[in-house]
Amino acid sequence: MIGHAQIIYLDNNATTQLDPAVIEEMLPFLTDYYGNPSSGYTFGRQVRQAIELARERVAALLGCEPGEIVFTSCGTESNNAAVNSALQLTPNRKHVVTTAVEHSATRRHCETMAKCGCSVTVVGVNGDGSLDLDELARAITPQTAIITAMWANNETGVLFPVEKIAELARRKRVLFHTDAIQTVGKIPIRLRDSTLNSLALSAHKLHGPKGVGALYVNRRSAFKPSMVGGSQENNRRAGTENVASIVGLGKAAECAAAALAEEETRVRAMRDRFEAGLLELVPGTSVNGDRTNRLPNTTNLSFAGVESDAALLMLDRDQLCCSAGSACRTGALEASHVLQAMNIPAERARASMRFSFGRFNTEADVDKALEIIPAAISKLRELSLPRPAPEPATA
Ligand code: PLP
Repeated sequence: MIGHAQIIYLDNNATTQLDPAVIEEMLPFLTDYYGNPSSGYTFGRQVRQAIELARERVAALLGCEPGEIVFTSCGTESNNAAVNSALQLTPNRKHVVTTAVEHSATRRHCETMAKCGCSVTVVGVNGDGSLDLDELARAITPQTAIITAMWANNETGVLFPVEKIAELARRKRVLFHTDAIQTVGKIPIRLRDSTLNSLALSAHKLHGPKGVGALYVNRRSAFKPSMVGGSQENNRRAGTENVASIVGLGKAAECAAAALAEEETRVRAMRDRFEAGLLELVPGTSVNGDRTNRLPNTTNLSFAGVESDAALLMLDRDQLCCSAGSACRTGALEASHVLQAMNIPAERARASMRFSFGRFNTEADVDKALEIIPAAISKLRELSLPRPAPEPATA
């Protein structure tokens, strides 16, 4: 196993390292406090209190009421639950509006809904990954139950204008859900005065544990659960709570709220130095997506003439972790749907890599990455150069 001390982890949009403070807070709920939070005796009530504290901490991070938070098993479940709820609430409205750059947690779910008799309109994006609000407005019909659009894109970091979408949805009297899984903990969020109906988050993107998420449901919005059974989560999500993970999510939210302002500046500075360094050191490097309106931690870069899956392997040898913007499917290198939706030429899209920073990255990581990546890219370019024809053999 690779010790994390050795790796250069620039893939914080994939997942993040658990904060030690989160582990410490979770441990008693994996050992001593194993009571069922629904039990009526003190040993159960103590556990219930821990869940309620976590709810308060998540609500504080989002600037909303604790009663608006429903704990789930992950971000995917939260996204699915919001759309399912809307379709159940208005059975005569069977139309969903979404965007071309959503995570598979939304995309695949919409595809499944489309196979079950729902119609889905997919709104495109501009070349810089931004959303055309007029196109979105035109997509809404009297049959529309919900708009589901992400807040921050996981591949490019580009931000959608969620407050404007929420306002549009309110005027058109349709629900609006946002996948804020990449947003929460990275930029300030204040839902108190928002008209957003629901928002999804996931603990493992903010230095919390995997396998736990939350769905914010605006107190003025109706909600129908997807998971039915016991009366947990105020009848909004049945099933005995994943107590230790919920406690971990609560602590992660508290840590994120405390660190947000400092981290936003520090992480942005690291990302910007890294990006500027590569643009200078590696000729033929370009940035994909709007550079101003994006998350502070993400950069999506294309290195001309390089296949990103090969670059990923090369960087892995130096224990540098990042993501490729293309994947080998059915024997061919296929560019990501996000870059395709941005109309980025296939060759440039296939050459794209995502680097994402987080709390535990250091300036030393940036220094090392700025040595490793230029060397790897020039090696790959050398390898892909057409070889000179061999000299004719002489006797
Ligand atoms: N939505 C976005 C934008 C994501 O980046 C991810 C995770 O990569 C998900 C949804 C899925 O979240 P989870 O892994 O918690 O199900």
